[in-house]
Amino acid sequence: MKQRRINRRDIGKLKEILLDKREEIVGGVKQIHASSQEMGQDGIQDMADEASNLYTKQVLMSLSENQRQVLREIDEALDRITDGTYGTCDSCGDPISLKRLQIRPFAKYCVQCQDSIEKQTIDTSIE
Ligand SMILES: [Zn+2]
Repeated sequence: MKQRRINRRDIGKLKEILLDKREEIVGGVKQIHASSQEMGQDGIQDMADEASNLYTKQVLMSLSENQRQVLREIDEALDRITDGTYGTCDSCGDPISLKRLQIRPFAKYCVQCQDSIEKQTIDTSIE
């Protein structure tokens, strides 16, 4: 089966999905950030920033390992969109199918490579 390479319009749509997903995960952090800025209006701005930075860190810490992993993968995918390597398997260089990217827009590998990597991960994660 021949896969068509994703085009710029596909990437635009996938980027929106990625940004939405990112927003979903860090949305809580932003809300807290906004309310801490309100409180710090007549205070020292640096301190308010510091407090919200600390809070952001705490929220990031409170995210599950899985959420942080997804966040990392989303950021990497956005980087790849910027440098033009998005949609290409990081392992074998084959194009990743649009169908796969629609399900998993931050996919870094094609199905075959992902499978073998996941198997490796499962093997090595048993301690
Ligand atoms: Zn591959």
